[in-house]
Amino acid sequence: MQIAYTVEDAKRITRAWKKEGQTIGLVPTMGYLHEGHASLIKKARENNDKVVVSVFLNPIQFAPNEDLDSYPRDFDHDCALAEEMGADLVFHPEPSEMYKNHETYVNMGLLTESMDGLARPIHFRGVCTVLTKLFNIMQPDNAYFGQKDAQQLAIVKKMVFDLNFDVKITGCPIVREDDGLAKSSRNTYLSPEERAAAPVLSRSIAEGQRVIKAGMASADLVAQMMKVLDSEPLADTEYVKVVDALTMQPVETIDRPVLVAMAVHVGPTRLIDNFSWEPED
Ligand code: AMP
Repeated sequence: MQIAYTVEDAKRITRAWKKEGQTIGLVPTMGYLHEGHASLIKKARENNDKVVVSVFLNPIQFAPNEDLDSYPRDFDHDCALAEEMGADLVFHPEPSEMYKNHETYVNMGLLTESMDGLARPIHFRGVCTVLTKLFNIMQPDNAYFGQKDAQQLAIVKKMVFDLNFDVKITGCPIVREDDGLAKSSRNTYLSPEERAAAPVLSRSIAEGQRVIKAGMASADLVAQMMKVLDSEPLADTEYVKVVDALTMQPVETIDRPVLVAMAVHVGPTRLIDNFSWEPED
């Protein structure tokens, strides 16, 4: 497995592959890789000749009050896991390599104006900008994203469509701990008490999946899910929303494919979880 630290090296390696007619699968990450990331790399390995994992803690998607400085890092472990999963290249640039006198940003409209986009106003601009750069540098045929970040996945699909990127976006299922907590690099922030409380998110998701089948209105569904979340004193819910799966806009009646998503603070740590659902006819 090769490691590239510069844009030039990453381009040189991936362009040579393209010249040979090899297909490239890209897995963009912020590092501190876990089994969730591993599942994406595995999927990329199955469907491409070459697999690139980017490990880049993208500063422009963090607001000044967010956790950029404390975000966990372990590049040696990331490389070991990427190699074990069959990656051919890890791209690990410094922020100064990616953003040299940088002035250009990719802004998206409606899809970023709900849920995480409200709490984190510059977040998706940073995500779309760095992905645009990664797509241009690597020119992947395929790119893999987790459904854990469902709003991000919807935004990336729309951006790729709107800007005519020649890359196919594949969403991969949420990988969870045994007790249901969605795996996340940020889970390391949780104290033992908070870690014990955190599965309340997935219990609320499970309750939502159970009751949504009865055909209830969004408000009733949210109320049922909130009951579960409110039963945990350490959990402070930022939002539970039912949104149109394509536009990310709230829906009152669940008569189309929806995303049911939540952000919950457990102590100082902000956790997210979600499920997707389609009415039967
Ligand atoms: P991150 O390093 O947190 O930016 O995540 C990189 C990619 O891994 C994103 O596409 C995430 O959605 C995905 N990912 C993170 N956690 C999980 C998980 N538990 N299951 C599946 N995919 C995940």
